[in-house]
Amino acid sequence: MNLKKKFLATVTAAALSISLTFGAPVVAEAASAGDLIGAGIAIGIQATQLNAQLNQKIKYYDTTEEGRQELYDSFRQKYGVSDNAEYNAKLDRIMANLTEGVAAVDPTIKSKPYLYFVSNQNAINAACSMGHVMMVNAGTFKKITNEDEIAAIVGHEMGHGQKNHVAKGNKKHLQKAVTASVAGTAIGATVGGGALTSIITQVALNHSVAHGDRKHETEADLLGFEYMTHTNYNPGACAAVMQKFVEMEIGSKQSGAMAFFNPSDHPDSEKRRDAYVKKLYEYSKNHVTAKNAVITVNKKTFIKVAPSSDMSAAERSYFILGNLASAYHRGQDKYEATVQNGIVMLGNQPIIEPLEGDEEAQTIADRLNAIK
Ligand SMILES: [Zn+2]
Repeated sequence: MNLKKKFLATVTAAALSISLTFGAPVVAEAASAGDLIGAGIAIGIQATQLNAQLNQKIKYYDTTEEGRQELYDSFRQKYGVSDNAEYNAKLDRIMANLTEGVAAVDPTIKSKPYLYFVSNQNAINAACSMGHVMMVNAGTFKKITNEDEIAAIVGHEMGHGQKNHVAKGNKKHLQKAVTASVAGTAIGATVGGGALTSIITQVALNHSVAHGDRKHETEADLLGFEYMTHTNYNPGACAAVMQKFVEMEIGSKQSGAMAFFNPSDHPDSEKRRDAYVKKLYEYSKNHVTAKNAVITVNKKTFIKVAPSSDMSAAERSYFILGNLASAYHRGQDKYEATVQNGIVMLGNQPIIEPLEGDEEAQTIADRLNAIK
């Protein structure tokens, strides 16, 4: 079939379905005429009608309790629910902490709390749909054991949720998908209002996760960081989890079917990490930064960080950087660096617990006092 014929066939099928649903005679006429002018009319009507139904559906899922619950149930059914007690407890805790963190900057969360669950999926991923419906894959908990790093991922998703990225950004994408689905139904079969609604519902469900739009991704990253700084989680975890992605080489090879936090749908992990390091620098009031596991305080080398049993030196360095940034942010740098129970403190802020390969705690504290 050549392209023009295929185009016409698609439009005609869509037009038929619509005309059966809405009983608009002009569409039926256009379909039977089967010429380009007719197709033009059909497209016009199809777009308006589908749009109206789709917008209604999006509003239902996004803003009504009934719709939110329906979306939540569909996600649970589609992706499965993990019964792992540890993962579920962790996500409960993260959601409770981050909900407070979000509320500190965006109180609207109180009127639309998140409906979340641990999905039975193995890839490292998380998703936020319309209506603040969110899931974090079991695989995320399996492969990332640090709670602060998972919180960083969830904070990013909540950034999508708070800014309504799915409902806002996905409309064109959804419209295309609905049109294609409608066209795919058998010509001549009765596609009633109920059937069309179910097509629209199905498409809305399948395409409702946030992904793709770079502007939205950057916004979600920045919001996630801000939310983290209003919790007790280490704000360095945002950069650390990106470093983990870089080292795991998660990227283009992952399936695009589930497009969520998936780094392949996001600006590349190195760039995101560097953007977070810049945020930490600003958060510290321009005092601290880190690169390749070396931490700098006031432009002077502070320490070269050793790896831990489960983190590379670079990944671990971002946690130490996060601690330092918090200390400076809270004005703890006006106090002395000390060693308490083997931990280097700046004021009341723990900075680093030296491990094998690190310098002695007192050596680190002395240097911090010299350059802070
Ligand atoms: Zn995202």
